[in-house]
Amino acid sequence: MKPINWKVIAQEGEARAGILQTRRSVIETPVFMPVGTQGTVKGVRYEWLESELDARIILGNTYHLFLRPGAEIIRELGGLHKFSTWNRSLLTDSGGFQVFSLTDLRKLTEEGVEFRSHIDGSKKFLSPEISMEVQAALGSEIVMVFDECPPGDAGFDKTKKSLEMTARWAKRSKDRFNELQNDGADTGFLSEPSAVAGGFGASSEKFVAEIYPPATADGSDLSGQQALFGIIQGAGHLELRKQSLDLTTEIGFDGYAIGGLSVGEEKSVMYDVIEFLAPQMPGDAPRYLMGVGTPEDLIEAVTRGVDMFDCVMPTRNGRTGGAFTSRGKINIRNAKFARDSEPLDSECPCSVCRRYSRAYLRHLYQTGEMLAAILISHHNLAFFLDLMQKVRDAIKFGAFSGFRKEFLEKLKENTPADV
Ligand SMILES: [Zn+2]
Repeated sequence: MKPINWKVIAQEGEARAGILQTRRSVIETPVFMPVGTQGTVKGVRYEWLESELDARIILGNTYHLFLRPGAEIIRELGGLHKFSTWNRSLLTDSGGFQVFSLTDLRKLTEEGVEFRSHIDGSKKFLSPEISMEVQAALGSEIVMVFDECPPGDAGFDKTKKSLEMTARWAKRSKDRFNELQNDGADTGFLSEPSAVAGGFGASSEKFVAEIYPPATADGSDLSGQQALFGIIQGAGHLELRKQSLDLTTEIGFDGYAIGGLSVGEEKSVMYDVIEFLAPQMPGDAPRYLMGVGTPEDLIEAVTRGVDMFDCVMPTRNGRTGGAFTSRGKINIRNAKFARDSEPLDSECPCSVCRRYSRAYLRHLYQTGEMLAAILISHHNLAFFLDLMQKVRDAIKFGAFSGFRKEFLEKLKENTPADV
């Protein structure tokens, strides 16, 4: 038995609409996963994520949760689902990306990486094995292998060395992951089947039953274990991307991610790598582009065959007054919104846009009210999740290329003065 089911239900060019079923929820793809760094999507209650926003899967960050409150406390409290009360799917990253962002604070060896906590400066160590152990304690549905993320401008030789170590780490990750699954170390394992049903949105239940035979629509044909995704590195070097792809698929994973993009390279480099890589990635597994991106990036990557995304942008921008709209990004701090009685985006169906004006949101921001960040973050997530719904519908109806053109044109309408 497998830990996840994956099925492509419609395709237009390289763009795919699919259904990903985990032990906790059914996820329609392409999907945007809100980032819950510290076990919380900043400023947005789970009640909203479950109801209006209907997020089926969110991210947890191994690095942050490893440091605070620590894997042991989360394990004792029954895993991240139980601790945080999030009952739908979780994907946890491996901690690699955060550790390698701390350039001055780390010592890298074949064994793993020693670093100093950004919180208290204490010495910590992460390796493929430890990352798997922490992610088993967190109990996520999708676990990521521990990888090295070289800087985006690393040269050919350095990138090659790095991806070869990432492949060795991927093998070690998988070996330790398998042991932990067999030992029952995964705290996210479902003993109560009702939790599976809790992850189903009412709207998709019927739809999913049509895709999967009734006997398996509840996930009963799944193994109940965690799934493990491999990560393809290689920066902007296509030859190295191919090498990393071959090394990773040789080991074999439940899904495959493209790492090391959106780290400062030109947009065209990112799109070229995706265009080259995605169609060569196994078609019978989900493809996940890590840490990307803007609404435009999402559309461009879906066009090139990517199924899953995550990015801090909706909530990070929300905290500084940045709002994504169908006519481009605006910043609510801009004085021009002081008397603007329109919503953030008149085409957005979210509860913030149905109720609050730009002028009021600007006032909240200018007076330092925390509600400003909460409301704009909520709208931004609604915008991203609604966009992905529209993308899925367009692919299913064979109308994606037209949708893409119209969406990207409209996105350019706001002048730089609005930002
Ligand atoms: Zn809205």
